Amino acid sequence: MPERRRPDLSTVAVEAGRPDRIPDAPLNTPMTAASTYVGVPEVGGGERGYGRYGNPGWEACEQAIGALEGGRARTFATGMAAVTAVVDLVPAGGVLVIPDVCYLGVGALADRRAERTGMTVRRVDVTDTAAVLAAADGADLVWLESPTNPAMQVADLPALGRGLRGRVRTAVDNTFATALRQRPLDLGFDLVVLSGTKLLAGHSDALLGAVVTRPDDPDTLTALTATRTLEGAVPGTLESFLTLRGIRTLAVRLDRAEASAAELVRRLEGRPGVEVRYPGFGSMLSLVLPDAPHADAVVAAVELCVHATSLGGVETMLERRRRWPGELAQVPEGLVRVSVGIEHVDDLWADLDRALTRAGL
Ligand SMILES: *Cc1c(COP(=O)(O)O)cnc(C)c1O
Repeated sequence: MPERRRPDLSTVAVEAGRPDRIPDAPLNTPMTAASTYVGVPEVGGGERGYGRYGNPGWEACEQAIGALEGGRARTFATGMAAVTAVVDLVPAGGVLVIPDVCYLGVGALADRRAERTGMTVRRVDVTDTAAVLAAADGADLVWLESPTNPAMQVADLPALGRGLRGRVRTAVDNTFATALRQRPLDLGFDLVVLSGTKLLAGHSDALLGAVVTRPDDPDTLTALTATRTLEGAVPGTLESFLTLRGIRTLAVRLDRAEASAAELVRRLEGRPGVEVRYPGFGSMLSLVLPDAPHADAVVAAVELCVHATSLGGVETMLERRRRWPGELAQVPEGLVRVSVGIEHVDDLWADLDRALTRAGL
């Protein structure tokens, strides 16, 4: 038989994590509401055993995420639980490198750990490749995010992957791009972290996180699994189901949202008082407006777009990031982060254009 064509990732998103094709089997892995499983005489061979150790629904979702990212995945209750499991890999008194601007929770978690365990946190500008490589000296973990949330900076991941490989453990938060736009494991990084809450689940109705390890690194997978089991931040049964359901349409949602984002950026070009930050791919963009009052006026004036935090849903969401007291001072007061959804681009444009005009921009 001729060899099967290697499927595109949009096909993998539809196909991975399905039950075996046994006659009359369901096409989708059913939700298994189980806190425990029937016992075996001697435990130790990787049985599920108890609801905190495993669930067929988690495993199906992990197969899909692992297949997309090119590694082996473990899912967690939230993106932050996944982040925590990775930061847990840093030994007591160790050194963690993080971006100077990145997802707020990561910086806050790092500072908390530093205070409690004596871990050292080094903050670097991820767009400065030489600075990241220098900061990696003697570090235990280099954590990167690209594009960064909400500054929309882009790191040179190919160069960093080459430069860091084998020197230090590395992780990339791939929440904004997903495997469909960049695959950090292919670039030489050790770990991918995802907030499945965002684009993967995609409908603003579930929280879930994932860590993906390289296929040739079973030890880290085991360590992460132990953290999940012992610290207990396991994914919910429904949330795993919803995330896998969301992954099925990830490619079409992202294609559509990305095309709309690019079109909105094009239409905003040259508009006085509106600086657009867009990395050139994906569904996220930031508008830097003159100040907080202008930004607050825009988010108050939209009618189709929703004023809400979070991102990656089918509905377009926007917010002024500095409304959060903890948001970094490097983020401009007037920065409005926009997560473009799958509504028609002309409707989005009409709403945004009207809101900007009403705000005097
Ligand atoms: C939302 C987010 C997280 C945290 O994920 P939760 O599912 O909210 O815990 C981590 N990184 C990035 C880039 C995010 O946008």
